[in-house]
Amino acid sequence: MEVTLKAPAKINLSLDVLGKRADGYHELSTVMQTVDLYDTIRISDNDSGKVTISCSYEGVPCDDRNICAKAAYRFFDHCRLPVSGVHIDIDKTIPTQAGLAGGSSDGAAVIMGLNFLFNTRLTPAEMIQIGEKIGADVPFCIEGGTRLCTGIGATMKKLPSFHGVHLVICKPDTVSVSTAEAYQKVDALQKHPCYTDEMVKALFSRDLFMITSSIFNDFELALQIPEVIKIKKTMLDCKAKGAGMSGSGSAVFAVFQSESKAKKCCELLRQTYPETFLCKPIKIGCSIE
Ligand code: ATP
Repeated sequence: MEVTLKAPAKINLSLDVLGKRADGYHELSTVMQTVDLYDTIRISDNDSGKVTISCSYEGVPCDDRNICAKAAYRFFDHCRLPVSGVHIDIDKTIPTQAGLAGGSSDGAAVIMGLNFLFNTRLTPAEMIQIGEKIGADVPFCIEGGTRLCTGIGATMKKLPSFHGVHLVICKPDTVSVSTAEAYQKVDALQKHPCYTDEMVKALFSRDLFMITSSIFNDFELALQIPEVIKIKKTMLDCKAKGAGMSGSGSAVFAVFQSESKAKKCCELLRQTYPETFLCKPIKIGCSIE
């Protein structure tokens, strides 16, 4: 048996790091949005008794370090099943180390795919419970759409959907951000009001100007990556309504009302940055094809 899933990328329309908890984790308040930029995950069963991975994207480990392998072991453990032979093939489109949750979404797809393959009838809440143990963004990638995520990122509240716009996502290839370093720099920032509250209000108002003026990211503020600043300027010069960095970077997204302006911006940026994509917000998370 085989199952194929689409694992979407996410962007952070807004991201506030509220502070460090006693256990070392950071408390976040962020609005996440899935987009139609997908990795494709193919899962097949076999009688090897092992979880194996294939992926040709540079820098993605094809062993037990892969988030998909971790997700598979967590799934079998949760369902009290012995580890079965499964092969997971990852066809990556989502850039890595971009703040686009590529790995998390692949992991979310594996939980959904194994639930289908092994007919385990897990509820979304149970799949989220497994996802939480793999990474803070995994629960969101199971649900998708437009959501306010708080706590370490795994507590979710559905928001009015963000749609009717065109997005350009651009990943500079020369920059990779260490998450630990990113948090250190954020910790050194001066305290400010929670801008994500403004984004939530803006989404309820359904006013595009309010939404695009509320795009904010504490990591962008703390890191001040020159390449990100340059890309954002190009996007705004191309008449984007708003732009910002996603997650801990280094991908940058821009919101356009006009499809032709978005296309032009995408073509322009692609000349310098091959990992530039034209996409749209979507209302769902991982799905079976
Ligand atoms: P996030 O937005 O959740 O912080 P990210 O975009 O910063 O995610 P990922 O694409 O999830 O980063 O990848 C980070 C690292 O995780 C990669 O460099 C890679 O070494 C490792 N990794 C493990 N499994 C995967 C996977 N299935 N896809 C991508 N990267 C993976």
